[in-house]
Amino acid sequence: MHDIQELKQLLTQPRRIVIVTHARPDGDAVGSSLGLYHYLMVRGHDVRVVVPNAYAEFYRWLPGEETILDHQKSGAAAALFLDDAEFIFCLDFNVPARLETLAPKLLKAPATRVLIDHHRDPDHFTRYVWHDTAASSTAELVYTLLGEMDELSWLNRDAATCLYVGMMTDTGSFRYSNTTPQTLRVAAALLEFGLDVESIYERIFHTFSEDRLRFFGHCLVNKMQVFPEHRTGLITVTQQELDTFRVRTGDTEGLVNYPLSISGIVFALLLIDRGNLRKMSFRSKGDFNVDQFAREHFSGGGHRNASGGVSTESLEAVQQKFLALLPQTAGLSEAALPPTSS
Ligand code: 5GP
Ligand code: MN
Repeated sequence: MHDIQELKQLLTQPRRIVIVTHARPDGDAVGSSLGLYHYLMVRGHDVRVVVPNAYAEFYRWLPGEETILDHQKSGAAAALFLDDAEFIFCLDFNVPARLETLAPKLLKAPATRVLIDHHRDPDHFTRYVWHDTAASSTAELVYTLLGEMDELSWLNRDAATCLYVGMMTDTGSFRYSNTTPQTLRVAAALLEFGLDVESIYERIFHTFSEDRLRFFGHCLVNKMQVFPEHRTGLITVTQQELDTFRVRTGDTEGLVNYPLSISGIVFALLLIDRGNLRKMSFRSKGDFNVDQFAREHFSGGGHRNASGGVSTESLEAVQQKFLALLPQTAGLSEAALPPTSS
C-alpha cells in the first residue's frame, strides 16, 4: 500500500511515539501494543504505551508491561507523552470513545495518528490506516504491517511473545472462526522465536484466584438464565456480587463463553453492573451477528461473534430491554446454528 511505504519512510529517523489502546485492555490490546513497542524500540524510537485504565493481573508478566503508563493513575504524565509525541499509534479500537477519558487527549494532541485495528466500521481519525476485519487480532495485523514494510527481520523474542498472546487470546486459543490459515502462519512464524506455548497459556488461563473460580461457579449455578426457545443464555452480575467475590479487573473475562457451551445455545450476554455504567459482553456462534445487535440496541459494537455495549440504565432495565428484544430478533433460529459434522 502506497501510504504504508510513506509511513515507513517517516519512521526511518528516530521518533517520539505513543501507542494507545482501548479501556480495560484485553490480551490483544496489551499484546499488540507491546509487540509493536518492542519492534519500535529495536528500531531506535522513543516509545511509550499508554492505556486508559487497568488491565488484568494475568497480563502483568508480558515483556515490557512494567513500562506501560495507566492514564487513570498517571493522568498528567500520560497527557505529557501524548502532547509531545510525533506519532500516536491507535491499536485494537477504531472509535476514539473507546479510550474513555483519554479520548479528548488523543484528539487534541498534534501527533500524526496511525490506526491498526480489526473491528468493524472504523471512524476516520487517523492519517494512516492498517485495518482488516478478517484479521484474527490486532496482533496479527501488527505482524502483517511489519511484513508490508519489509521490517520483519527486526522482530525479537519479546515482540513475538506479546504478539502471540494477542493472537491466542482473541482467537480463544486458535479455535474461534476468526482463526484463518494466515493466523496460523503468523503464529507459526512467532513460534520460530522459541516461545514456550504451554507456559504462555498457563500464565494467562490457569492463574485463577480461588475467589475468581468460585465467582464463576456462583454465576453458573445461581445467575445463568437459559432461554432455549431463543437459543440464548444470560448472566447478570450485580455490584454487590463483584464485592462479595472480590472480583478484580479481568476476572470476568471468559465467563460470557460458558452459556455457548450448552448444546443449541448460539447467543450469550454477560451483563455487569459497574458503578455508573452497565457493561455488556455479547458472544455468538455461527451467523448471528452480535456486532450489529450491540450497535443497534446497546451503543456498542465489535465483531460478528464478539461485541460489547454500555448503558446508563439500571441492570433490571437493561435486562428487560434485552429479553424483550429476543423474540423479535431475526437470526436466533435453527438456521443460525453453525454446521455440525454429525
Ligand atoms: P469484551 O466483551 O471482551 O469486552 O469485548 C468483545 C469485543 O467487543 C472486543 O473486540 C471489544 O473491543 C468490543 N467491545 C467491547 N465493548 C465495546 C463497546 O462498548 N463499544 C464497542 N464499539 N466495542 C466494544
Ligand atoms: Mn482485538
